[in-house]
Amino acid sequence: MYRVGIDLGGTNICGGVVDEKNEIIAKDELLTRHTSEPELIAADIARMIFRLAARLNVSMSAFDVIGIGIPGSVEKDIVRDANNIGFYDVPFASMVSSRTGLPVTLINDTNAAARGEYVAGSGKGAASFFMLTLGTGVGGAYIYKGDIVEGCDLAAGEIGHMVIRVDGRQCSCGRRGCFEAYCSASALSLRAREAAITNEFCLLNKFTDNDLYKIDGKMFFKALAAGDKTCADIFDSYMRDLTAGVVNVINLLQPDVLVIGGGLSGVGNVLLDDLKRRVAGEVYSLHSDTQTEIRIASLGNDAGIIGAV
Ligand SMILES: [Zn+2]
Repeated sequence: MYRVGIDLGGTNICGGVVDEKNEIIAKDELLTRHTSEPELIAADIARMIFRLAARLNVSMSAFDVIGIGIPGSVEKDIVRDANNIGFYDVPFASMVSSRTGLPVTLINDTNAAARGEYVAGSGKGAASFFMLTLGTGVGGAYIYKGDIVEGCDLAAGEIGHMVIRVDGRQCSCGRRGCFEAYCSASALSLRAREAAITNEFCLLNKFTDNDLYKIDGKMFFKALAAGDKTCADIFDSYMRDLTAGVVNVINLLQPDVLVIGGGLSGVGNVLLDDLKRRVAGEVYSLHSDTQTEIRIASLGNDAGIIGAV
């Protein structure tokens, strides 16, 4: 039997058929429709699933279940609140189920990515596991002995909104100085832009033709690799903040494995080696033989598909 995992994002809908070994054997992708009608998105997803069945030359009854990762909060079959796609109290599971004839389960997308890395990626085999994502925002999910720790209102693990600098930068959540306001990919681009404005020799001015709004993570790490002094200073400051957040998580939970995912994890060892060195010097139990192992996520976007099922 197969399962179908769907990662419903603000930009794209990615779907995949997952086999018993938690491997994806067929994939599909389409743009997320911008609409106030969740029914239309449910219909897009149903069509994608029929297409996947046709491509594998199987009937819909070959699929056990459909799991859908939602960019927001989920309660059983209902999407409570998903800003990016404009869903509020939407009975989305039944909308997809009625079109496909299959049972549908919903899960928050960060939790889905964490579950994916836990069962089939960098967290495989760990008894306790924390996933930290550095993307548009900073997300987190904690899995303990196979279960996601959800909290009393299903938002446990939202470490992006843990303050690392009191009275610091304004965050979208209303607080100041949040981890996310310093360490998301967007925050890194903003910090680089601010520095490039006041440092005319910064390579980012050249790379962007002086249109500093073009700065993204990739460009930043290219300038860093080229030896740019301004970027080196920003990177040092960024890594100090990232270390503060990661050490806070480790001191609180001591997971066996902490995995870094999200867009910025793509730079790999540049970030990982530096982070490991800094964390080793700051963590509370620094003299102990047993330490949380920090790794980079290995499944990329597939984690959300595998985790959703
Ligand atoms: Zn916040």
